[in-house]
Amino acid sequence: MNKTLRKAVIAGNWKMNNTRVETKALINDLIPLVKDADCEVVVCVPFTNLETAVNLTKGTNVKVGAQNVHFEKSGAFTGEISADMLTEMGVEYVVVGHSERRQYFGETNVTVNKRTKAAVAAGLKVLLCVGELLEEREQGITDELVALQTKIALQGIDKADLNKIIIAYEPVWAIGTGKTATADQANEVCAVIRATVAKIYDQAAADAMTIQYGGSMNAGNAAELLSKPDVDGGLIGGASLKAADFATIINAASK
Ligand code: PEP
Repeated sequence: MNKTLRKAVIAGNWKMNNTRVETKALINDLIPLVKDADCEVVVCVPFTNLETAVNLTKGTNVKVGAQNVHFEKSGAFTGEISADMLTEMGVEYVVVGHSERRQYFGETNVTVNKRTKAAVAAGLKVLLCVGELLEEREQGITDELVALQTKIALQGIDKADLNKIIIAYEPVWAIGTGKTATADQANEVCAVIRATVAKIYDQAAADAMTIQYGGSMNAGNAAELLSKPDVDGGLIGGASLKAADFATIINAASK
């Protein structure tokens, strides 16, 4: 992490976990553990728990995010939620392009770009996920693929809006599998993403961009991953469901 250039962001992606009662318990446990964090702390909760999470975290340093957003403002899109609906509720962040959305719900680079633009236009901060499949890593195309995902996702985004975008490098083979990328692998691809941002915009924009690693980051491996210069934080699934583990990661990012 290079805190002189950019802010570290640790975000929990709860996925489809936790009822409202469980949400209250987890957030109430988390708040005191992370109150002195020297990084941005975000919990991305299911849609049904957003309002609860926003109310519980008012006046604290914990921010709330959604896990998806539709790209249209309103209309006949049964089951979808717009960016304005999220901001009206006090939600500040949204995950876009998570590999589970790409894998199970037909998300493409093009829809990731549309969602990113809609979210940014509404004032949300986007946790924009990119990452390769295991076959793609084995074929030696990780760098090109992640660069392409980044380029398409950022199409039409003004340089002035880049401060609303955090890119999460999440190798798909490491998500929920317990197989973490090594700190060097994570750093290498985060650096490729940064170089891609520099090519599209400029070096100053790339230097200012927070780029997270995600994929089985946990209390035991976070410090090493976060010690790498291009890894500016983490997007954390499983380990964000336990307040103590998530707080350990946040504290590692605060050093
Ligand atoms: C994620 O859901 O983005 C993620 C990285 O999950 P996990 O930490 O469980 O691998």
